[in-house]
Amino acid sequence: MLKLDIQLFAVPFRKTSKTSKRTRRTHYKISENNVTKCSKCGAVVRPHRVCKECGTYKGKEVIKKEEE
Ligand SMILES: [Zn+2]
Repeated sequence: MLKLDIQLFAVPFRKTSKTSKRTRRTHYKISENNVTKCSKCGAVVRPHRVCKECGTYKGKEVIKKEEE
């Protein structure tokens, strides 16, 4: 006799339909962007990002802001 060493895995019986998949994912939502204020210039910035107005992050200058 042939000895088969095959591992069996649980396989879904039916394909999950688009509607079923989408219904399940109705709770998956993008949260509103939370914003903080720049410690240097007070502009509204997104957290963990360099301030666009003054080019600083955590009080240090990261981007040289060109004066116009
Ligand atoms: Zn700033």
